[in-house]
Amino acid sequence: MQAASHRTEVRLVGTASSAGVARGPAYVLFRGMALVPCVENQDPEAEIHRLESAISATRADIIKVRDEVALRLNEAEAQIFDAQLLVLEDVALLDDVVSRTRATRRNIEHCFKESAQHYVGLFESMESEIIRGRAADIRDVTGRVLDHLVGAQPERGDQVGGGRVLVARDLTPSDTVSAESGGITAFVTEEGGRTSHSAIMARALGIPSVVGVTGLMAAVNDGDLVLVDGEDGLVIVNPTAPTLESYRARELIIRTRRDRVMSEVAFEDVMSDGSRFELRANIGGPSDMEDLKAFHVRGVGLYRTENLYLRIDDWPSEDEQYGEYTEVIRRASGDPVTFRTLDLGGDKRLGVLEPEDNPFMGFRAVRLCLAHPEVFRPQLRAIIRAAVHGPVSIMFPMISGVEEMLAAKAAFREAEASLAAEGVRPAAPVRLGAMIEIPSAVAVADRLARECDFFSVGTNDLVQYMLAVDRGNRKVGSLYDPCHPAVVQSLRAIFRAAESARIPASVCGELGGDPEWAPLLLALGASELSMSASAIPEVRFLLRHCQRPELDALATRVLAASDAAQTRTLLREFASKRLGHR
Ligand code: PEP
Ligand code: MG
Repeated sequence: MQAASHRTEVRLVGTASSAGVARGPAYVLFRGMALVPCVENQDPEAEIHRLESAISATRADIIKVRDEVALRLNEAEAQIFDAQLLVLEDVALLDDVVSRTRATRRNIEHCFKESAQHYVGLFESMESEIIRGRAADIRDVTGRVLDHLVGAQPERGDQVGGGRVLVARDLTPSDTVSAESGGITAFVTEEGGRTSHSAIMARALGIPSVVGVTGLMAAVNDGDLVLVDGEDGLVIVNPTAPTLESYRARELIIRTRRDRVMSEVAFEDVMSDGSRFELRANIGGPSDMEDLKAFHVRGVGLYRTENLYLRIDDWPSEDEQYGEYTEVIRRASGDPVTFRTLDLGGDKRLGVLEPEDNPFMGFRAVRLCLAHPEVFRPQLRAIIRAAVHGPVSIMFPMISGVEEMLAAKAAFREAEASLAAEGVRPAAPVRLGAMIEIPSAVAVADRLARECDFFSVGTNDLVQYMLAVDRGNRKVGSLYDPCHPAVVQSLRAIFRAAESARIPASVCGELGGDPEWAPLLLALGASELSMSASAIPEVRFLLRHCQRPELDALATRVLAASDAAQTRTLLREFASKRLGHR
């Protein structure tokens, strides 16, 4: 291997997916399928039995990683591994292997590898980024089964060694977690987007990462020095001495900024002129409630209740839901909990639901619930029963207009009346709100506000539908731009409608936890920001170092901006003055 200093510096651009800067020698991870011989004239039933044992062993491996993630991160991250476990139960894949084995009488490794490659190829050829992302899960899981079948020691993230930068075509969630426990300093992948599983994991683990780096695998050799800039989405291979020098200063600034931010994590949510602001947490289940304590957050602004359904890949019973909801309310210790009713559909699908050609525009969220009272009713009853233990609000996702809101409220009243007849009464009246995430709801926000106790703006979907850009598709990723004046004007319209009707309007989409956006959202009229708990320290610090009139001046300038670039510059400058340059 050539010494790093003799090689030319190469700069590659990707998508910044987890903040921070790190450097180290590259460890290039090639997870291929093990080399498998083809052996004829085998006993098919004995071979199938071997496959069953390999699947059991793989299941145990995955459950181990899942439990570790649940312990170290939270339940929402751990659920990523549930999708991997489902690969092991994929009837189509397993039937294909079994019939190949019986028909050819060849060894099970050979038949399994052929079937697995066929399936991976099938998923990789799909248009949808989400479906292509599934190929990575199948490749990872089937690779592990094969390793068990041939008795090979798989190349694993935790064997990488400390201080290294993990470079891969695509990383699986299990690679990401095991590499972190092995002391990896950063991740870089050629594939993937900000919403890919490994990027979500890297963010939760606080490890710098850049994804979607075209030409990465061709540019990096094992042992090359790699500098990863997770702030600007830059990967520098074999950096020169001056580059390294300039980054040393940058790394110091980033570390100092994090220390500063954490120094005020337990402080009050008050701006420097005394104006108060409200921050809440987004959660996916009871285990996320630990994070609220760690980051000093009071109350839940978005409880993604569909996570329970996705975890069991089925419809949970009313009692099952009641148990989980009660635990969340109990752990909130009297602070408010905002339940979002079932938001299935789009990229959140249950196996029992029929596939759709255009699922983001399809039979999802409140549409599905209103059409299926046998699904909606038990959920509403479970929430109302749990509301006996603490203050609760309910919001309905994907409300497109007044009629849907009225129908959802009627379903709630019916459930409430049935429980009142059984003597069950919530501790406090349950507030009912609409998620504003569809452009039609923005257009009728004034009328909708009259029917709601509150609004909660789902900016993730609002941007997607407002700009007609699939939020999970990397090819149109650059068009997914919340700074588009149409988005800013819509936000203002939503908050104005809420103000006129004297109802609060919170933001629970990702923008709420983005330090560049938080000041603007409050200035435009948001009454509360809800975000993943780990985003709280930076947003809290920033807002504590603002004065309300400065926020209002920022909003005036942004509303006058004629294009997205101007808005971006204004927001960036405002945040970096208080947080330091990013
Ligand atoms: C949103 O759309 O902004 C939102 C909070 O909901 P989800 O990301 O679950 O669609
Ligand atoms: Mg949404």
